[in-house]
Amino acid sequence: MPVFEYAPAPESRAIANLKDSYKPFVNGEFVDGSGEPLKTINPATEEVLAEVGTASKSDVDTAVKAARKAFSTWSKLPGTERAKYLFRIARLIQERSRELAVLESLDNGKPIKESRDSDVPTAAAHFFYHAGWADKLEYAGYGPNPRPLGVAGQIIPWNFPLLMLAWKIAPALATGNTVVLKPAETTPLTALVFAEICQQAELPPGVVNILPGAGDIGASIVEHGDVDKIAFTGSTEVGKAIQRQVAGTPKKLTLELGGKAANIVFEDAPLDQAIEGIVNGIFFNQGHVCCAGSRLLVQESIAEEVLEKLRYRVSTLRIGDPLDKNTDIGAINSAEQLAKIRGLVESGDAEGAERWTSPCPVPDRGFFFAPTVFANVHQSMRIAREEIFGPVLSVLTFRTPDEAVAKANNTPYGLSAGIWTEKGSRILWMANQLRAGVVWANTFNRFDPAAPFGGYQESGFGREGGRTGLEAYLNV
Ligand code: NAP
Ligand code: MG
Repeated sequence: MPVFEYAPAPESRAIANLKDSYKPFVNGEFVDGSGEPLKTINPATEEVLAEVGTASKSDVDTAVKAARKAFSTWSKLPGTERAKYLFRIARLIQERSRELAVLESLDNGKPIKESRDSDVPTAAAHFFYHAGWADKLEYAGYGPNPRPLGVAGQIIPWNFPLLMLAWKIAPALATGNTVVLKPAETTPLTALVFAEICQQAELPPGVVNILPGAGDIGASIVEHGDVDKIAFTGSTEVGKAIQRQVAGTPKKLTLELGGKAANIVFEDAPLDQAIEGIVNGIFFNQGHVCCAGSRLLVQESIAEEVLEKLRYRVSTLRIGDPLDKNTDIGAINSAEQLAKIRGLVESGDAEGAERWTSPCPVPDRGFFFAPTVFANVHQSMRIAREEIFGPVLSVLTFRTPDEAVAKANNTPYGLSAGIWTEKGSRILWMANQLRAGVVWANTFNRFDPAAPFGGYQESGFGREGGRTGLEAYLNV
């Protein structure tokens, strides 16, 4: 069946208000960091977007001191007052949502329809939600007068730059902590516009500090003696290193790490909906999603039918300019990530899985990878065990619910899972068996600030979001 042709419908990049250079944000002001400036690029074109000043170790110290000083007043403000700031920030994110969405798509490569309809609104929602908690902490179940921890050091990855910032900063501020945050090296821009929003909201200086830089700046934040809490989202490898670094110190730690989620489709599932859920589960954000449904477990009796429908549906996805409103799949965030995806796909070929790649036209400039589905995948293959973090799906089959559970749980990770079936009893039974922090039923990749998110095993520990997520920032 032919796919409709659409004329290009690009969002204007002028909306991003892109500047030539950006600076670290310390104690309420943009400052010259003493680190080596970095250049952030647009991964869809490989052009340099802006030069970004970075922090050095001594800037980390200055930022932590500013956060410590701010803590003494911020933590004593009545919750109703802190809530006003959070509401203001939420409103300002909404007011500047188009600018933030276009800037995020330029810096990260994600399709504008995702940054516009998912990342930015969900970031605002996190501030609204936590504004609501700021004056109700005594009813959160952590005792009559739960106290903040102090200065939180927060380190985030490049896949959802603004959204991960919101997941980190909103609960920290609502509970009375102050923050030193390091965005990822390849996607620092929306964090620095967020710093402008803090100024616009007249947030007291030092409550939020943003330090662009590489991994060593993250490590300096982790090892700083006057930081009370570390919140990290990123790879399992770096998470483990951080855990070693804080072992034996009084620092509280939460880790949100990688995943290799099973999306499990039973023969009684509503197939057309399941296909949409499979596609959303693995191709949302080019598969750069820690909870991506990267392992499809499909009941053997419907495997052929599902594969056929899936290949057709995937062949209709449009890959290309992230700023085009019709684009489904944007750019891979970096040359490094593209090389990692290619390497794992080659291992799938070498280990004998059956590869199908969408015949869609792929731009010849920038970092792109066509949506790919591997059938006949076995559990021992690297593509079934390792996180690819790209638009690549591995399909395995099962015969019985017990076998589905055994295969789904056969992973060192445990962040999320999906179940597709008409039987409510089976959903509940499966959800109890699966060792995953989030289990979606007949849907996938649903995020809500009220729902706690986090992992089992090598996917990390601690929860973000919901009442449970407040615990990570309270002295309880
Ligand atoms: P990464 O290399 O671990 O980087 C994450 C952040 O840590 C970046 O800001 C990075 O800085 C910084 N960093 C690097 N080395 C560090 C060190 N030694 N000490 C402190 N900070 C350090 O991860 P990534 O490859 O960018 O991100 C993808 C990974 O994140 C995937 O594995 C994905 O599953 C995971 N992730 C998990 C969640 C979740 O909620 N569970 C959400 C999103 C992503 P640079 O940018 O300068 O390298
Ligand atoms: Mg970039």
